[in-house]
Amino acid sequence: MSRVYNFCSGPAALPEAVLKKAQAEMLDWHGAGVSVMEMSHRSTEFMSILASAKARLKRLLSINDDYEVLFLQGGASTLFAQIPANLTNGFETACYLDTGAWSIKAIKEAKKYAKVNVVGSTKEQNYTSVPAFSDLEIDEKAAYLHLCPNETIGGLEFSELPDTSLPIVADLSSTILSRKIDVSKYGVIYAGAQKNIGPAGVVICIIRKDLLVRSSDRLPTLWNFANLAANDSMTNTPPTFAIYLADLVFEWLEAQGGVEAIEAINIRKAQALYDYIDSSAFYANPIDPAYRSRMNVPFTLADSSLESLFLKESEAAGLRTLAGHRSVGGMRASIYNAMPMEGVEALIDFMRAFEKRHG
Ligand code: PMP
Repeated sequence: MSRVYNFCSGPAALPEAVLKKAQAEMLDWHGAGVSVMEMSHRSTEFMSILASAKARLKRLLSINDDYEVLFLQGGASTLFAQIPANLTNGFETACYLDTGAWSIKAIKEAKKYAKVNVVGSTKEQNYTSVPAFSDLEIDEKAAYLHLCPNETIGGLEFSELPDTSLPIVADLSSTILSRKIDVSKYGVIYAGAQKNIGPAGVVICIIRKDLLVRSSDRLPTLWNFANLAANDSMTNTPPTFAIYLADLVFEWLEAQGGVEAIEAINIRKAQALYDYIDSSAFYANPIDPAYRSRMNVPFTLADSSLESLFLKESEAAGLRTLAGHRSVGGMRASIYNAMPMEGVEALIDFMRAFEKRHG
């Protein structure tokens, strides 16, 4: 067996220790005589896994009891629609900040439910920066303000939040658990699992309980946040195996020292890679240095005709999935929590040697 360094943006690398534990427990989970995949979601065994995942996530992010933690399905893309479907009830408009490809997708879905007020956009700068928050035109009567604080494709990240009385709804799919956040500043946080949480198939939604009154009875039952909260994410069969893996990832993260400890490593990883890119005339990253993502690092080669050779040689060197998103091309290294510093160092060594050979 030989595992490689996997730079995929998602589904992304999982900690090896988690995969090994899942492997060891695969045939017989804790003496149950069956795997987690084969047990009733209403069994005491699975209920204990769900409770554990929820408790660990609450500890890792210091989530207080004003919030409900939901384990949903359909990917973050479903939440693009499910959120306006629940939260715009009784409101005419919803505010959205436009910082790139994932903001655009969220806006497109929201328009099916409400008037969308785009409060600021950096489209004209090709999404290489974030709008100045002092210039945002936020309609304080809107249902909420939606943000995507880490644009996975563009490689743009911001941590400050605009000043508003509106509930802030944030798509943290590609940054959750990578850095400290103050959950109490948000109305809703949602994140697909397949980057920093676990395998695809489960979406985390952390919602302030006072917002649940907005969910109308006319919504499909499985889209109704109030119903899902009342049933502890068990309105129907939840994605049991994905929740189990998420619990193992949360356990691993706690053993690493939690979010603060992993954030310190993430800062070092990103710094090393950006420093190298900036020091080279062969590679470039277009993002305003104040807003460069710690999780997704896109870069281009001075000579784009070398891209396919770069990908072929990097793959052969055990560095997997460095191609940029199909919509933008170039390269992208996604370096989520499970990517060790050694993986980033191996990438930099490869980039340096490639530049020497072809630069
Ligand atoms: N939002 C962001 C920021 C993402 O990176 C992604 C997936 N890469 C999505 C939403 C969509 O997630 P899914 O494919 O799980 O619907």
